[in-house]
Amino acid sequence: MFSLTDLSAGDWYISIVCLCGERLVLFSDLTQGRGSLKGSLELTCPSCGKRGSYPAEHYRYEPSSEARLLVRHAS
Ligand SMILES: [Zn+2]
Repeated sequence: MFSLTDLSAGDWYISIVCLCGERLVLFSDLTQGRGSLKGSLELTCPSCGKRGSYPAEHYRYEPSSEARLLVRHAS
């Protein structure tokens, strides 16, 4: 399970942004942001409880960023 302290500044992660505005960081992006993401991720947002399908995106973590809610990929 990811926790906020697992994120390293400057590292890339796969994340989605829920309709409620929460950014969910799901897992490490081993391609350093250069990979191609296709499709979407289906998961339940722990913030608003809404289950949906969200387009995945590369996300580079910075300590000042808005990332604050981290969930395991619901595979
Ligand atoms: Zn949400």
